[in-house]
Amino acid sequence: MVRWACITKSPLTGTVTDSHQGGRTGARLRWAGFDGIVLRGRSETPVYLFIEDGRIEIRDASDVWGMGIHDTVAFFQARYGKKNLSVNAIGPAGETLCRYATWVNEDDRAFGRGGTGAVGGAKKLKAIVIRAGIQKSRDVDRDAWKRVRREALDTIRDEKHITSPRKGGLSVYGTNVLMNATNSIGALGVRNSQFTSFGDRAEALSGEYVKDNILVGDPTCHACPVACKKEVEIKSGPWAGLRMESVEYEPAWSLGSNCDNDDINSVAKMIDQCNDLGMDPIELGNALSMYMEATEKGWVDGEGFAWGDTQSMVEMVEAIARREGVGDLLAEGPALAAERLGHPEIAMACKGQAVAAYDPRGLKGMGLGYATSNRGGCHLRAYVAAAELGVVPGLETDPLTWRGKGELVKTFQDLHAFSDSLDLCKFSAFAMGAEEYAAQYAVASGRSFSADDVMLAGERIYNLERHYNNLAGFGRGSDTLPDRFTKEASTGGGSKGHVSELGEMLGEYYAARGWQDAVVPAEKLRQLEIP
Ligand code: SF4
Repeated sequence: MVRWACITKSPLTGTVTDSHQGGRTGARLRWAGFDGIVLRGRSETPVYLFIEDGRIEIRDASDVWGMGIHDTVAFFQARYGKKNLSVNAIGPAGETLCRYATWVNEDDRAFGRGGTGAVGGAKKLKAIVIRAGIQKSRDVDRDAWKRVRREALDTIRDEKHITSPRKGGLSVYGTNVLMNATNSIGALGVRNSQFTSFGDRAEALSGEYVKDNILVGDPTCHACPVACKKEVEIKSGPWAGLRMESVEYEPAWSLGSNCDNDDINSVAKMIDQCNDLGMDPIELGNALSMYMEATEKGWVDGEGFAWGDTQSMVEMVEAIARREGVGDLLAEGPALAAERLGHPEIAMACKGQAVAAYDPRGLKGMGLGYATSNRGGCHLRAYVAAAELGVVPGLETDPLTWRGKGELVKTFQDLHAFSDSLDLCKFSAFAMGAEEYAAQYAVASGRSFSADDVMLAGERIYNLERHYNNLAGFGRGSDTLPDRFTKEASTGGGSKGHVSELGEMLGEYYAARGWQDAVVPAEKLRQLEIP
């Protein structure tokens, strides 16, 4: 479950952002002799980094500038051989500074959110190429490490957990195991979140449908037994023969139900386009659904495009990456694009970043998590859905109750901030908590470390990030949700009639954090020893 992270100021939000990739690249960087890379300044001409045996070289990338990511990976594999090689690249979207451009390694694992690919494009950095075989760390107590590793794997494999290989829902169906669940409770956005349930049509987008109809493989990341990645092959229609990875829940929502699209083949096609062009499919789907609503309401120049028009959607993905026509507007992201259309209220975004696949009217804690995320609308800074959907045994909580969500969101944020700093997969939290993380960190670092230390370290990280955002201009009143979620009632499923009680939840949350509204006071910084 080893990953690595890209940390920068986001071109999409202006906040701090951190985005995490699976695959094997993070481990390979370590095997090549590095814990991390700091990139400063920019090149005048296209370059890539070549990393091997403790050396980093900056090399000319003129030959691959303009290429899609799949061709870029193939180019470097032809140059350096496939063995022990990882290629992490930006695509055309990064080169044109699309605000939600990504970095992608191994063809499909992305630094997905926050527009980190545009930072690569601004630096004219096309790729990071690493060649290194497996190295065992000599710095740890091997026996102690074997013990905590075995305990962690036993916990992940336990049949009571969703992570259990070939038995748990996450392993069998991937993240898209959630589609039918969120649909039934009224937390699945439809038509740019104007509706909250996709009715019977959700089934055709679900992990169960994918497994029965187009699944061809279950790839995994380095050292992970879960194998939640799902490789599919489109069997019919205009994209027949396309093999790609992976039809995740988030894009099945953003490019599916939220665009009134129940064609899973078109969703797979657009995810593959995102993997090749280097774009975040969550932000992309939100940009498309926003533009479809603007079209419906007569707010666009020209024809626009209609709900569920998959052909236009597929064409628009390419246009956005190249910034051609309307694509230039939508490459700015749904928040800025809606503002330029004169209707910021139809962007489902927080601090400039689009929300994810959990409607805040049906999952109240997720809404608070979006509003208070330090990187803008995001489901991963506080994956409270694990409790609200009853995924983690013993943590179940009512998704429609707002009381208690302030403390719960803070706890999730602090716990995830710590596991993200170790760069463990977020899904480890479906089976493990602070005790397990503390045991692993203690062995890896050789320091005594407790569950309380885990939560304190996470709290310090979260406050430091928030302090950065405060200094960057995000002050009082900056933790918001779109009015649609707080004023327009849920239309269907179990949440019908509900709105998000954001104001009440923020009151609880700020009390738990010791903040003054969205601002970390000096006293809190002192208490946490943040200079
Ligand atoms: S659970 Fe899924 S995303 Fe996480 S490390 Fe394993 S295969 Fe990768």
